[in-house]
Amino acid sequence: MRLAILSDLHGNREALSAVLADLAVRAVDRIVVLGDIVGYGPDPAWCVDRVRALVDAGAICVLGNHDAAIAGTGAGMGTTARAAIDWTRPRLDPAQRGFLAGLPLTATLDDLLFVHASANDPGDWIYVTSDHKAMPSFRVSAARVIFCGHVHVPALMSCDRAGRVAQQRIPMGQPVPLIRSRRWLAVLGAVGQPRDGVAQAAYGLFDTELNELTFRRVPYDVATTVQKLRAAGLPEALALRLMKGE
Ligand code: ZN
Repeated sequence: MRLAILSDLHGNREALSAVLADLAVRAVDRIVVLGDIVGYGPDPAWCVDRVRALVDAGAICVLGNHDAAIAGTGAGMGTTARAAIDWTRPRLDPAQRGFLAGLPLTATLDDLLFVHASANDPGDWIYVTSDHKAMPSFRVSAARVIFCGHVHVPALMSCDRAGRVAQQRIPMGQPVPLIRSRRWLAVLGAVGQPRDGVAQAAYGLFDTELNELTFRRVPYDVATTVQKLRAAGLPEALALRLMKGE
């Protein structure tokens, strides 16, 4: 089975469209969305409708902190993130808000675990930014591969039989064998708001038979998204972030 794994869409219609077009020609059997469908971007309603249609067609989707903040107060978020949530909330109808509120914190498929942030406390929105920060996830979960997002920077960690966790180099666009003698944690990067200095949408392809993970980058129409962000009156910092990809 070939899985396409998408995280942190963040209301970016152009980026999500580019990723869906890219995976459409790659014989994908199932789509997984790791949360943060909304927040920051100018097209939250479109993105929720698109993901809802994917879920109706069999996709797996888990809850992100921005999705959760729609039903909550946005407490604990930074000023910019909170301003964007306050802008987003009234632009979703009750059915769209209900869809977000109904998303689970985690999902599994065979020996794979899907979670937005850290597997050890999924609702605490901990950033897995290093091998050290990945250790608690390996400790609480027996999954062979944990897929997460939230950081917006792609990363790959492995855990050997002795429990030693190490960060692995990612050859972008090349399949990485996730050898079975280790367990793995993959941070997928962001579809809609990359932060690794590359202004392109990020997502992953995982082949469960070949046991290979490919981190993909897809160019998208950044100028259009930036134009919409500015027209919406969203914070200028968000426009600059998309242009730089950081
Ligand atoms: Zn995010």
